[in-house]
Parts: sequence; structure tokens; C-alpha cells
Amino acid sequence: MTQHNDLAALDKAHALHPWTHFESFERDGPMVITRGKGCDLWDVDGKRYLDAVGGLWCTNIGLGRKEMAQAIAEQAERLGFANTFVDQSHDPQALLSAKLAQIAPEGLNRVHFTTGGSTAIDSAYRMVQFVQAARGFEGRTHVIARRHSYHGSTFVSMSLGMRDGDRSPEFTYKSDTIHHVEAPYVYRRPEGMSVEEFEDSLIAEFEAKIEEVGAEKIAAFFAEPIQASGGVLVPPPGYLKRMWEVCQRHGILFVADEVVTGFGRCGEWFASETIYGVTPDIICCAKGLSSGYQPIGAVIFSDDLWLDMSGDRWYTSGFTYSGHPVACAAALKNIEIIEDEGLLSHAKEMGALFQQALHGLEDLPIVGDVRGHTLIGCVENVADKTTRRDFDEGIDIGRRITDAAEARGLIVRPMGSLNVMSPPLVITPDQIDFVAEILRAAIIEVTDQLV
Ligand code: PLP
Repeated sequence: MTQHNDLAALDKAHALHPWTHFESFERDGPMVITRGKGCDLWDVDGKRYLDAVGGLWCTNIGLGRKEMAQAIAEQAERLGFANTFVDQSHDPQALLSAKLAQIAPEGLNRVHFTTGGSTAIDSAYRMVQFVQAARGFEGRTHVIARRHSYHGSTFVSMSLGMRDGDRSPEFTYKSDTIHHVEAPYVYRRPEGMSVEEFEDSLIAEFEAKIEEVGAEKIAAFFAEPIQASGGVLVPPPGYLKRMWEVCQRHGILFVADEVVTGFGRCGEWFASETIYGVTPDIICCAKGLSSGYQPIGAVIFSDDLWLDMSGDRWYTSGFTYSGHPVACAAALKNIEIIEDEGLLSHAKEMGALFQQALHGLEDLPIVGDVRGHTLIGCVENVADKTTRRDFDEGIDIGRRITDAAEARGLIVRPMGSLNVMSPPLVITPDQIDFVAEILRAAIIEVTDQLV
């Protein structure tokens, strides 16, 4: 194999990475990964890491699965591609759409395939306008999303997102039909406000925004059940259901972005209904749908929507690789593995240990908040625990902790002052202990450097 320096140099000379910082990439170069098995990765020098980020919230069944490689190879050999436009289909798409209808909340029996999460969100954005127009509400072209949300990196999905620091002044964003309300960021709620009061204030703000824009102009509300990339924002218990009820009262469709929360990440196929009591009109999913083995996303939607949108009209949305046969075959095998190995209940069991292990870090002087659900977790680091004062941006606390963890063989994701994790569902109790132990050592090392 080409040696480390060659690979790093080639990458550095030619690849523009997603979400990269030019100067630091030029300085540090890439970390070149060459192999993965279960929760572990090896870099080109043979150094082993436990990947507590699960790729990018996606390697749910773990890496290096022979059954996945076989399913992908067999499909590639038998039918490596066939388009699904207009009226052509193939067996993997037919079987996967039926399987998704079976595991989705009741009434969501229709599936429109995409190439990933962003394209699922963009497709849902188009679908809600289409449905509303088909229902006779042509004026419902606006949507509402939330601060701290991340919905992807295409033009519309990026404009729906609203994380601090995500919006580069060099790019433009769609703002004429996209509106934002506050996120259920419980740790950062206003001083002196109870969680219940905070929840009430968010519902009131949502109602006020609907009033301001005009319900007759709003097609849909887009929400991740748990805002993942925005900092693992776990909402107060009644929040999501109340937001859904507001939507229902105003004829606003509810789009659940389950790109991260789906496929066992929260111990269920999907989080919105089972955990939060919401039956969305549309669920967008990707990532854990194939555990990252193939790029694929899906918009799963209700029979009600289907009934109203179908008839004598064209649905002019979709991609060359919508329902790609190899990606569908990978997703089918991935779902079979989750079922056969009982990975939803394993995730619940491991999730309880994982959350407990992370909460064990709360005694550290810079750990302001630990939060999460099942196998999503986050540590929020602060300069002052009493006042929740942030570290200066220049300290780059999350990045420093990530670097210290990486040197010890653990990958955690920096996000401003946070470190976030979403390990594969196949994680074991010993590996959870390793994550907590290394993260503790990394935080202590960085804290010591600061004094
Ligand atoms: N939605 C959520 C909640 C995500 O976290 C992401 C990616 O991280 C996306 C959508 C976009 O998915 P993709 O990167 O596959 O386009």
C-alpha cells in the first residue's frame, strides 16, 4: 500500500474536504484511515482508535461486516444499476420500501428514495409544497425550522439549518420561505426559568411565529427529535408532542428529520413516535439506514399525503441514484442484521451504561453539562460551571480535548466547546468504559494545560 506520507500528500494536494478549515488542514494534513472493524479504526500507520463518533453518526452495525460486503458484491454483480424513474423498479427497491413501511410508524407506508440525508430533506421540502398545493393550499410555501438545527449541506437543507458558525458569509442561503424559532436547549435556557416554563415559552414562540408568518402560508415544520449536530439537544419530555399538536391545529405538516435518531441510535427504529409520541407526516432518514455502507436516504411519508398528492399529475422530483439497487441491497441487509442480532435492545442496554459512564464525568471542573439519549452523548465544556460561562473561542476547547483523546486512541467529535459521540450500536461495556476513561484523561490533560 502507498505509504502514509504519500497518501496524506496526495490528499492534501487534491481533495477539498467537506466542512474543512483551510489553514488548519494545510498545517495538520489529513488523518488517513485504512481499515475498520466493529467500533475500531486503524490509520495508515497501524494505530488503532475506538471510533466513538460512529463514522458520522452512522456506522450503527459496526464496520467490517462480511455479510454486508457479500450483499453489496452480489447485488453489484447481478444488477449494479437500474434507474427508478417513472415506472421502472427492481427487487431491492420494492423490498426495501416494503420493509421501511413495516418498521415505520403506522400509516407511513410510502417511500421516496434519495442519495443521503440532505437530499432527503430537500425532497421533503419539495414534497410538502407539492402536497399542500395538491390539497388546494398553493399559498403554503413557507416552512419553519429551529436554531441549532442541522439538516444537511444542499442549498435548502443548509438554509433550514441554523447552527452557530455554520453560515459562511461567502455563501448565500434561502431566507424568503424559511423561518426559524428557538431550540429546546435546556442547559442554555434563560437564567431562573424552570424547564417547564422554558417548554411553555418555546411553544408560545412557535405559535407567535405562525401568527407572524400566517398559518395559511406555512407548509411544514422540520425538526430533528434530538438536535444532534446542534449539540445533542434532548428536548423536555412534552415539547415535541406539543409542537406537533400546534402543527396539527394549523394544518402544518410535521417533518421529522431522523437522519441521526433513526435505526437504533435511540434504541428504536425511529424516535419521534416511540419516544416522543409524535406521528410525523414525513420521516427523513439516511445514515443508519445502511450503517454507512452505501450512500442512501429515504423520505417515508403517510398514506394520507399519498392520497392527496396522487392522481392525474406528475411528481417531478428525484435523482439518477434514487433507489440505487446496491444501496437498497445494503440497507436491506443492514436492517436484517439489526433485527437478527437484536441491536435495538442491545442499544438500549448499552445506552443506559453509556449515559451513566458519561455522567461520571460531571465531577470534572470544566464539564458543565452531560446530556444524551441511548447512544448519542455530549459533554459541554465551560470556563465556569456556576455561571455556565463559555471558554474563549480561541482556546478551541472541544478541538483540544478531541486531539488529546485521539492521541490516546479515542475518536470523539469536537463541536465548538462540546465533544459529541454516537458510537456503533454494537459497542460493548468494556468499550464504554474505555470511552469514559480516555475522555476523562483527555479533559484533565487539557484542563491542566489551561492553568
Ligand atoms: N439531517 C441530520 C439531522 C444530519 O445530522 C445530517 C448529517 O449529519 C443530515 C440531515 C444530512 O445528511 P447527509 O450528510 O447524508 O446529506
